[in-house]
Amino acid sequence: MKKYSLYRDGDWVEPSIDDYIEVENPATKEIIAQVPAAQELDVKLAIRGAKKAFPNWKATEMKKRVEYLEKMYDYLVDNKKDMAETIHKELGAPKDFALKTHVEAYLPHIKDYFRLAEEFEEIEKYDGYEVHKEPVGVVGCLTPWNYPFGQIIKKVFPALVAGNTVVLKPSQNTPLTAYYVIEAAHEAKLPAGVLQLVTGRGSEVGDVMTNSDDVNMISFTGSTDGGSQIYKQSAETVKKIALELGGKSPAVILEGADYEEAVKSVLSSVYMNTGQSCSAKTRLVAPKKDKEKLEEMLIKHSKEYKFGDPTKGETQVGPLQSKKQYEKVNGLVEYGKSEATLLYQGEKPEGEGYFFPPTIFTDVDQNAKIAQEEIFGPVLSVIYYEDEDQAIEIANNTIYGLSGMVYGPEDDAREFAKKIRAGQIIINGASTTHNAPFGGYKYSGIGREGSIYGLEEYVELKSVFI
Ligand code: NAP
Repeated sequence: MKKYSLYRDGDWVEPSIDDYIEVENPATKEIIAQVPAAQELDVKLAIRGAKKAFPNWKATEMKKRVEYLEKMYDYLVDNKKDMAETIHKELGAPKDFALKTHVEAYLPHIKDYFRLAEEFEEIEKYDGYEVHKEPVGVVGCLTPWNYPFGQIIKKVFPALVAGNTVVLKPSQNTPLTAYYVIEAAHEAKLPAGVLQLVTGRGSEVGDVMTNSDDVNMISFTGSTDGGSQIYKQSAETVKKIALELGGKSPAVILEGADYEEAVKSVLSSVYMNTGQSCSAKTRLVAPKKDKEKLEEMLIKHSKEYKFGDPTKGETQVGPLQSKKQYEKVNGLVEYGKSEATLLYQGEKPEGEGYFFPPTIFTDVDQNAKIAQEEIFGPVLSVIYYEDEDQAIEIANNTIYGLSGMVYGPEDDAREFAKKIRAGQIIINGASTTHNAPFGGYKYSGIGREGSIYGLEEYVELKSVFI
């Protein structure tokens, strides 16, 4: 079985002690690899190298920085099939989904940052002064397991384009995809120390990063609990912070909407990636008067999904990613049975892995646990409204504010969208792009990824009076 290394100062290095984390294939429960559990010393050395590399990387022209990163992009394109195979194994995603949604959908997003770099004004001139946009310094990037490639590139590329150096810590659950990004940097001969890799346990590695005076910014994507922890810890050393956190997003169906299209789109958002997407629209807010019609559609279209063995070509939805995730989803669904009506549950797919069937609860009270907690599995809660005022109240009755969806006559849907407190709203199934700003209101986070706003998270502003 392959034992991986850490990457520091342009080289593969062994961890300071012989402590490794096993990586499991959630579809088979097989252990497929081992990655180092970086210790305090490993993290400190990675930070030290990134700090040392910063002045030269900052001084490197943005155009030249992009040239290095273009070489990384080429490597990632050349290796996209292997990367998808790795995501298939460590996440349990069906192969086709891993290739198209996890890899191919994110590759063009890397190029978005190259285009933004061309347009980026490092110095803005005002009457009597200039604003200089400078890199923040050493950035600690902590990423989750649910999109092991996408969540890394959304941080690493803008941070490096802007002239920062990066210490990357991927999730211990799906750390293997990160190695392609690091290999890409190695092949591109990115200067030593500009991108460092420390695999390991979140709180252990995170503590060293947040406590270090030499880490100037933390960019974290993960759970709201994890993010809040990081936020508190980073306060001691007054770090710049970017947090992309959890969600419990509403899908609102207004009267006059194309119900069939709306239902299909909601189910796709809830089932794909086995419900393990931060922006999944897991609260369906629907008109009570059409309950019967909508429920028939929800059942009919749920039955069209093929859950099961991700190695099989026809499978659309694989297992949950871990035992922990399975227990969480199962626990909340069992609890849900005590507070709402189970409308539909598919057959549990056969197999050793952490398989969970598609599940829909109906007549859910807007304050129920399954209407409030992020389940992060293929589970939908249907909440009915009597009138639009109540629909808005329900849509906003959440601590989160990451995303939302509205289906209805366009003018009505646009008006409704204005009233939802969330960072992204999709009207009538419009297609989205990773290049639009993405991030949350309320407990869903601080800051944005994607677009010029995402790039500017990684700069400090300096006013220069002349
Ligand atoms: P998580 O447990 O919070 O972990 C996220 C990352 O942070 C992992 O690398 C983890 O390390 C590390 N970590 C966790 N607690 C930490 C701490 N106290 N100090 C330092 N590092 C810590 O989240 P997850 O379970 O991986 O991901 C699922 C969550 O991410 C969901 O809530 C989802 O909504 C959210 N998410 C949000 C977005 C967005 O853009 N808003 C995108 C994707 C996912 P280890 O896992 O290695 O321990």
